[in-house]
Amino acid sequence: MSIFEQMARHRNWAEDERIILDQVGRVCNDIIAPNAERFDRSGEFPWDNVAALNDLGLNTIFVPEEFGGMPTSYALYLECVKMISEACASTGIIYATNFHGMKPIIDFGTAEQKQRLLPRIADGGLGALAITETSAGSDATGMKTRFTPDGDDIIVDGSKVFITNGDVADLYLLFGKWSEIDDDRRSISVLAFEKGTAGFEVIRKEEKMGHRASSTAALAFNGCRVPRANLIGAPGDGLSILLASLNKSRPSVAAHAFGIARAAFGDMIAYTNQRVQSRRAVIDFQGNQFMIADLASELAMVEKWIDYVAGLVDGGADDFGLEASIAKMRASDLAMRMATDCVQMHGGYGYCADYRAERLMRDAKITQIWEGTNQVHRQLIGRSFKEK
Ligand SMILES: Cc1cc2nc3c(=O)[nH]c(=O)nc-3n(C[C@H](O)[C@H](O)[C@H](O)COP(=O)(O)OP(=O)(O)OC[C@H]3O[C@@H](n4cnc5c(N)ncnc54)[C@H](O)[C@@H]3O)c2cc1C
Repeated sequence: MSIFEQMARHRNWAEDERIILDQVGRVCNDIIAPNAERFDRSGEFPWDNVAALNDLGLNTIFVPEEFGGMPTSYALYLECVKMISEACASTGIIYATNFHGMKPIIDFGTAEQKQRLLPRIADGGLGALAITETSAGSDATGMKTRFTPDGDDIIVDGSKVFITNGDVADLYLLFGKWSEIDDDRRSISVLAFEKGTAGFEVIRKEEKMGHRASSTAALAFNGCRVPRANLIGAPGDGLSILLASLNKSRPSVAAHAFGIARAAFGDMIAYTNQRVQSRRAVIDFQGNQFMIADLASELAMVEKWIDYVAGLVDGGADDFGLEASIAKMRASDLAMRMATDCVQMHGGYGYCADYRAERLMRDAKITQIWEGTNQVHRQLIGRSFKEK
């Protein structure tokens, strides 16, 4: 039994959680993984995968029961993200983005907002999180989208880039600046933006290196009229909501990156056991064993750290930003390193599309860039040790 099988055996999932994980495993093996290559090649949005996950009720596992959900622990949610992303990174991020966009409504919305908006997600609608703009990447305070109050409405003007699920979402968690507050940080506000609002336009879908089946869209908001009832919190609450929300989405993108790393590790082990050169399996060369040992250890440690962060969230901790940064940074660096070494261990075959290694390497790269680039996370973690 491998060390990873042993680790899995020692996980104490409750009986009902095990049932969910078994079902997710079946959908991943039977539907999602076998179609991942096809969706990657065509760039077609994997609606069948979304439907299969919704059939299991996975779209509801973070939605409170009173709003149509079947809530589970954060740990279980992260486990599902790992499994789905291992089977297909594009489907993994589509699924996780629902959580990233909608969880802040659960955490910061009013009862009326939750009652009105969340059942759409529980019914299978997709969510998106819209922060980034051409002028606001790593520094979100550079955003220019404007929210202007007008009676019972808010007029939204501006644009967003790189929005996952941007062209297919039913609900967007949209960040912008409140026109009446003249301060880059204190003006940031957030609202729920509904599909079908007049003046909304999908400007283009990006052609990407990886995650080709997950859509990434540039959006325009041309005088969109949004009910003031959709404002989350008060004008100017956006930055604190954004930071609190990223703390919960970062472990989720760590779980997504971990899924890619686990896929690459599995492929590497299978290939190095089977490929023979100089009359020996490639895994028998000591240099390769050293590399595999380092990668396996890192995989085990990162999994444990993600579990640790999940435990903090499930235990009700409210200050876990640095722990989330460490999870995001290490899991995504591992995904890239693992995928690169997986290609290396496949030799020339790894560079060609016949093997999954090539796709995993393309999929891994973005995990070091989104949800705060890894330079930004290194800066956050390093800065925390500066003595006051
Ligand atoms: C496929 C994809 C999906 C995405 N999905 C979403 C989404 O759903 N919602 C959303 O809002 N955004 C999304 N993004 C945007 C993503 O989060 C940003 O691309 C990311 O935050 C980096 O911003 P940027 O691309 O403008 O790079 P920049 O901020 O311009 O960074 C350029 C370089 O400068 C470095 N740098 C910047 N600031 C610092 C600093 N302080 N210290 C050290 N180095 C620094 C960066 O690390 C990077 O190497 C997505 C992007 C992609 C490509």
